[in-house]
Amino acid sequence: MRISEIFHSIQGEGLLLGVPSVFIRTSGCNLRCRWCDTPYASWNPEGEEMSLEEILRQVRGYDCQHVVLTGGEPMVAAGIRELAAALRAEGKHITIETAATIPPDVDGMGVVFDLGSLSPKLANSTPDAEVAGPWKERHEKTRLQPDVIRKWLEAGSCQLKFVVSQVEDLPEIEELLNEVGAVPGFTRDRVLLMPEGTDVETLRQKGPLLAEMCLEHGFRFAPRIHIELFGNTRGT
Ligand code: SF4
Repeated sequence: MRISEIFHSIQGEGLLLGVPSVFIRTSGCNLRCRWCDTPYASWNPEGEEMSLEEILRQVRGYDCQHVVLTGGEPMVAAGIRELAAALRAEGKHITIETAATIPPDVDGMGVVFDLGSLSPKLANSTPDAEVAGPWKERHEKTRLQPDVIRKWLEAGSCQLKFVVSQVEDLPEIEELLNEVGAVPGFTRDRVLLMPEGTDVETLRQKGPLLAEMCLEHGFRFAPRIHIELFGNTRGT
């Protein structure tokens, strides 16, 4: 499996915000978001091939209960299901951070997780054709898949995180939630709005607008604490 980085940090986003975690970032992604903050795992994937045992050995080096499988898109990484199963066998709590374009269960083989952190990509993510070439169309066709999102919500405990740029993003979120439909146990306070931005100033500028949107629609406001703490840098 091609791994971009493995590091120990504080979970900066979502329901487990603040929890010390080991992050395993796979390299490679089936999307090309305009504002991607990990281009070294998507637009220009870097990293080295690592065996399952090598990954586990590094994870064991940290005295840490929580492990986050992230990317890139971890669900396109060959061997991700085996890695999750091996981490579960070692008693780890597993979060999978995915854009939810690939179902948890493929060919009858599911992926184990304790928290599915689903981040479907809104229209604000689509890159310009001048930059992305044919990826613009691929991205646009792939980015939103209500049936796949529903499969994740039915498979286990999940949160839905949206990167929001402007108030105009809200109708797209509501339309998507309608298409996904009601899933027992999944409530609106598990829908998180996160400001788009990779620097503290931009996040602070957009924060009050998102707070208003959350108040009005019953969603949860989601800060990006790792950027406040460390800036937009690798290994955090
Ligand atoms: S899905 Fe994530 S890793 Fe892939 S391009 Fe979008 S932001 Fe980057």
